[in-house]
Amino acid sequence: MESRRLTVDLGLPGGTVHVEMVVPMGAVPMERLLPALRTTADAFVAYGAEMSVAAGKPVSCSKGCGACCRQLVPLAHSEARQLAKLIEELPEPRRSVVRERFAEALRRVEASGLLPSLMGRTGRLASEAVHLGMDYFRLGIPCPFLEDESCSIYHDRPIACREYLVTSPPAFCAAPTPETIDTVPLPTRVWAAVAREENGIPNSDPATCVPLVMAPVWAARNPDPGTPRPGPEVLQKVFARFSRDRRGEGFGQ
Ligand code: SF4
Repeated sequence: MESRRLTVDLGLPGGTVHVEMVVPMGAVPMERLLPALRTTADAFVAYGAEMSVAAGKPVSCSKGCGACCRQLVPLAHSEARQLAKLIEELPEPRRSVVRERFAEALRRVEASGLLPSLMGRTGRLASEAVHLGMDYFRLGIPCPFLEDESCSIYHDRPIACREYLVTSPPAFCAAPTPETIDTVPLPTRVWAAVAREENGIPNSDPATCVPLVMAPVWAARNPDPGTPRPGPEVLQKVFARFSRDRRGEGFGQ
């Protein structure tokens, strides 16, 4: 299938975000557009980090600090399917190791009694999502991809992971609360725009998501990637959601 390199300049209050991405021209499921959308998220994050520096709040995240990799990471459905495929494509014995980490994580979630709430998060994000996130964090379950406090799938990491950078002291990340953690403000959340677009959800409504730790189980139960659509058309729709985000709810999920 033909792919083309496309360039998009997005005007924001403090400057312009320039994105260059390779886009399949034909009809594809959302999964095939994730590389372009990750590139877009990276460009927004770089913009947000620059704005933070200009405001005297540089990013305090550093290599080898994986404290945030014990948080509840939201994935768009297409990301959950892609992550499940990535696990299946890992060479042995690594695949078995990662699978076992996911299984152990689910056992711990189940033992904690949080599983029904997390299953609920595969529907709409609930208003109690912040509390659920904190309850989950307190379980101390490392992401199955976390190795030596670094991400072992760095180039393929989910969009929400890319969109989380802090400017508050790193020590606070060990026990994060909304009061102590300052994140880099972003003009939009790409993962949420993708999640809304692939499920036809208005921007005024919460996005659907799958918690990362449940991705393999969820993907096995929901293998249908949906009707393929032309790549440029879908990207245009996702980008239009960014514009609406900027006019409306702005910086939030
Ligand atoms: S995928 Fe990588 S960056 Fe994201 S939570 Fe897991 S280890 Fe951390």
